[in-house]
Amino acid sequence: MPLTSDLFAPPIAILSALPQEQRGLIGLLHKPRKLHHASREFWLGELHGQPVVLALSRIGKVAAATTTTALIERFGVRRIVFTGVAGGLGEGVKVGDVVVATDFVQHDLDASPLFPRYEVPLYGKTRFHCDAALSALLFEASSKALAHESLATHGFHDACVHQGLIASGDRFVSSAEESRSLHDLLAGAGHAVLAVEMEGAAVAQVCMDYGIPFAVMRTISDRADDSAHVDFPGFVEAVASRYAHLIIGNFLNLLSKK
Ligand code: SAH
Repeated sequence: MPLTSDLFAPPIAILSALPQEQRGLIGLLHKPRKLHHASREFWLGELHGQPVVLALSRIGKVAAATTTTALIERFGVRRIVFTGVAGGLGEGVKVGDVVVATDFVQHDLDASPLFPRYEVPLYGKTRFHCDAALSALLFEASSKALAHESLATHGFHDACVHQGLIASGDRFVSSAEESRSLHDLLAGAGHAVLAVEMEGAAVAQVCMDYGIPFAVMRTISDRADDSAHVDFPGFVEAVASRYAHLIIGNFLNLLSKK
């Protein structure tokens, strides 16, 4: 039985990978309640008048699939929004930009020659799509957030919002050579990727299994290149929660007007 009863509207899940990405959001929760389940902490409460559950996917595809399943099965969520950081892979996708995902591919999935490279065996699918309506709201929320002066103080004056394919895999991509080869291999197979991270495709697959609409926004913390290991922690500590706070606030406000 899910924890939320029929008396309440099903909560919307706000998922992040890292505590730094979630930090600003917990402090804003109205009537916060912390619950432990599946070796994880889940925060229930209200944000901008909406019932929400905040959770950490943790890092990597398997951990993200566990959290997503728990959110659906145990907490009865019927919509999921992911806010986190990613490495920029596409041309012109720079640190401080935001990528709103249209769909996901697993860049480390290869059951060839039994199945085409990148295809998820027995699904007959390579790309898993986000919900178009939720993603449109997240795009609007992100565009508004980037116009906010508090992000300009971090030096991201010309930051912009992109929308497109994101690749996920169980690897922190941190060399120019690896990032180029990942980009080119995927492009050669018809997948023009904007960013790389470690969880989104797993969330997408679980959401497809359960028929749950979801949307993902990733702020670019690094370029997945030789300085990624320096850029990533600096960005995550100083800026990531600021983006999450502004974008999720805008998103929930837009959602409440629907
Ligand atoms: N616990 C470590 C490692 C984080 S792994 C730490 O906090 O320092 C990086 C996280 O950010 C993952 O959740 C991943 O989704 C995202 N990410 C950011 N840049 C990435 C990159 N270049 N390659 C892969 N994942 C990246």
